[in-house]
Amino acid sequence: MDKSQKRMDQNKKLYYTDHPIVRNLSVIIIIILTPLTAILFWYTNHYLNGSLTGLFQFFIDEGFFNGIYKIWAPVFWGSKTAWTILSIYAAIELLLMKILPGKTVYGPKTPNGYIPVYKNNGFLAFITTLLLFWLFGFQLKLFNPSIIYDHFGEILGALNIFSLLFCLLLYFKGLYRPSTPDSGTSGNPLFDYYWGTDLYPHILGINVKHFTNARFGMMGWSILIIAYAAKQHELYGISDSMIVSVVLQIIYCAIFFYYESGYFKTMDIQEDRAGYYIVWGVMVWIPAVYTLTAHYLVQHPVQLGAGLSAILIIVALIGFYSKTNMNRQRFNVRANNGDYRIWGHRAKIINAEYTDKNGEKHSSILLVDGWWGISRHFHYVGEILGALCWSLPALFTNFMPYFYVFYLTILLFHRAKRDDVKCRLKYGKYWEEYCKAVPYKVIPGIY
Ligand code: NDP
Repeated sequence: MDKSQKRMDQNKKLYYTDHPIVRNLSVIIIIILTPLTAILFWYTNHYLNGSLTGLFQFFIDEGFFNGIYKIWAPVFWGSKTAWTILSIYAAIELLLMKILPGKTVYGPKTPNGYIPVYKNNGFLAFITTLLLFWLFGFQLKLFNPSIIYDHFGEILGALNIFSLLFCLLLYFKGLYRPSTPDSGTSGNPLFDYYWGTDLYPHILGINVKHFTNARFGMMGWSILIIAYAAKQHELYGISDSMIVSVVLQIIYCAIFFYYESGYFKTMDIQEDRAGYYIVWGVMVWIPAVYTLTAHYLVQHPVQLGAGLSAILIIVALIGFYSKTNMNRQRFNVRANNGDYRIWGHRAKIINAEYTDKNGEKHSSILLVDGWWGISRHFHYVGEILGALCWSLPALFTNFMPYFYVFYLTILLFHRAKRDDVKCRLKYGKYWEEYCKAVPYKVIPGIY
């Protein structure tokens, strides 16, 4: 059994049951339910006033399968407009990724010795994308920005078909033409399709996950919400609730791109192979679900008033600050080899050791101070707080605008558990020592 195979088995044990029937069934259910949810949410927001009760009534009237057919069939394959929008968008983002200047940065060495290389031009690409959208959409009026809202169902259909096929291509590529040694099969084709076969696939010199996760998914998020704001403006004039929600999300995305090189060190990139879970997730789930609040707000132009708007913005900024600063504390303490001051004193650390898959010993630093001394994943609190603040402008008529924050909370609490298992396996007694000093995973005193 090669190293990547062992690693993959370890991952499977961490996240999934070992029972083949249960594992296969879970994967099948996820692959069926997630595209369906994405399409149903779009339809509910677009045609049913964002009301899930309305959707329920629709299924009672139409019958479940007939209802799904009626909703999905017209947008299943996308449309000429949708494919054109997506092709232009993808081509621009690929071009920006290639031509914009940026320092060369390196990702963490993989268990098989591969060191990923990136061009750190994410923030420049983000600013350029927004400027191009503003210039050609709002100034030169080459296209109407709200076209994205009008055709979003078809866009989702096209994205879904493309991503499903793309994941199939990645599956075979990882098996027969892997880009790096960190590839392999679990022996279960279904699970391989879902989880991926290659950790760092490259196609025509392009780092696939860098493109799909950051430059396509996260970049698309900001474009979509601006297009939704444009649509609301066209229909009713712009509401302050839309402004608050969109501005907070744009700040969130800007922070992501500003620290894009940090993203290369996260689980999405280091742990998750390029399969359905991550690639379909960033290409379809992010556009469909992460943008739900702004999508909902298009037809619900609520006015919040200056006071409430200011409170939401301030609380969200505190959340963003805490999570960003927590990430920086970890980065800086490691970059300075532990010789680093946090909150007025020398940072308390654990000098940890671990053995990699090749049997080589390494050292690392676990921070037991600052935000990392409050809980082991306190940045998730800031993340959830920010998302709550950009959802609250929708007020409380429907659940739909809160779906994202609800989903995010589950995702991050599950992720905290995943990361804990990963770190326990990696650091052993040093991780136990950290857990003794900082006993809670996310919320001190609760979890
Ligand atoms: P984290 O930033 O939480 O990193 C976890 C890693 O940090 C661990 O695997 C370990 O890696 C290292 N680490 C753990 N404890 C310590 C410590 N005490 N001191 C120093 N290093 C430590 O990873 P995530 O990928 O979960 O999150 C990255 C960011 O992305 C977060 O801000 C999160 O909120 C956000 N996020 C957003 C999501 C969304 O959908 N909106 C989804 C997921 C994340 P090592 O092996 O290097 O020691």
